Amino acid sequence: QPVVAVVGRPNVGKSTLVNRIIGRRQAVVEDVPGVTRDRVPYDAQWNGRAFTVVDTGGWEPDAKDRAAAIAAQAETAVVTADVVLFVVDAMVGSTDVDEAAVKMLRRSAKPVILVANKADNTSIEMEATSLWSLGLGEPFTVSALHGRGSGDLLDAILDALPEAPAIVENRPRGPRRVALVGRPNVGKSSLLNRFSGEDRAVVDSVAGTTVDPVDSLVEIGGQTWQLVDTAGLRKRVGKASGTEYYASLRTAGAIEAAEVAVVLLDSSEPISEQDQRILSMVTEAGRAMVIAFNKWDLVDADRRYYLDKEIDRELRRIPWAIRLNLSAMTGRAVDKLAPALNKALASWETRVPTAQLNQWLTALVQATPHPVRGGRAPRILFATQAGVAPPRFVLFTTGPLDAGYQRFVERKLREEFGYEGSPIEISVRPRK
Ligand code: GDP
Repeated sequence: QPVVAVVGRPNVGKSTLVNRIIGRRQAVVEDVPGVTRDRVPYDAQWNGRAFTVVDTGGWEPDAKDRAAAIAAQAETAVVTADVVLFVVDAMVGSTDVDEAAVKMLRRSAKPVILVANKADNTSIEMEATSLWSLGLGEPFTVSALHGRGSGDLLDAILDALPEAPAIVENRPRGPRRVALVGRPNVGKSSLLNRFSGEDRAVVDSVAGTTVDPVDSLVEIGGQTWQLVDTAGLRKRVGKASGTEYYASLRTAGAIEAAEVAVVLLDSSEPISEQDQRILSMVTEAGRAMVIAFNKWDLVDADRRYYLDKEIDRELRRIPWAIRLNLSAMTGRAVDKLAPALNKALASWETRVPTAQLNQWLTALVQATPHPVRGGRAPRILFATQAGVAPPRFVLFTTGPLDAGYQRFVERKLREEFGYEGSPIEISVRPRK
């Protein structure tokens, strides 16, 4: 998600402007203990595009070396931003402090939009034309307080932002796409037959959707699902149709085409390398996942105890996957499949508001800061969720993070927000 930084002297109306941009959907945090107004990010939307607004707070008004304070402030804002809003007071005009800031901003290659705030009436607007002298082009005259000119400013922000995909408010309606995968003989066809046995009516059309001929529409838990690439499962010859290589390509294709994968394992046998490969394929493709331990009817009480331990060990890299113990043969726990799929898909599409994400993050890094390495410890400045399906996060930092610390952040993120059944991706953007 692109980032817009709001920079300017104290009292030029930055908070008011941020409130205007975010439409007061979230209140600007003015004074939370431990949270400075420095670099507080908010979610904003205009004409179907989403971006993050970072309120950089005020420059230290009584810092000894004002120019240095300005430089530091502008620099931090600018390195993490895609667009900078430079706010001045239209009633005051440009000051030497503003001019010093412009020098810093110019050195960055970032697009800067000049905003002349407090232009509450036309006569102030006229005076604002003198701000051309700052060399940042036409000043956008706005009254953040009254809303005057804010639509034009938002249009200008969108023009300056890098291309970003439009927000998909509602995913197209239609059945969710599920891949049913697993090595030969784990019981895929048996499970599929549970849902679409020849004696039962297979759902064959849903209004307004097209289904690939190799896919099947089946009803699971009173809901219609699109099982991708079931052609090979239906024909019993599918199993004989060739090499492991071919099967693996087919599995990869099915996972790619699906939103959520059911990975079937055989509970009567140890988890194999081939099973692990399939599990990795799902994780690497970033799909939601339910692991179904089939043939649970073959597991007796003695084995069950060891099995739990073995499974925990084998699946330690994907503790977030939803696990079910079922039997395609007896029908045990087969009714748990649809709720598990829905849960995994919900996690996969979760979006955490930026303010909430950063409140949590601020508390986390305060309680457990990054360990000091060679006398320095990178700081996490803020985070945004860059996307969903699966949830993707970007951490803006002052330097690269230790792999261990990054894993710690991911674990805590999961503890806080869930994501059961979904992988999540975290990338780190250290400022240069
Ligand atoms: P696929 O290759 O993954 O499609 O596996 P199949 O559905 O062909 O099943 C392989 C074998 O396992 C068949 O002999 C099935 O009858 C058997 N099987 C499948 N599910 C179960 C189950 O839940 N319990 C038991 N005991 N056997 C099963």
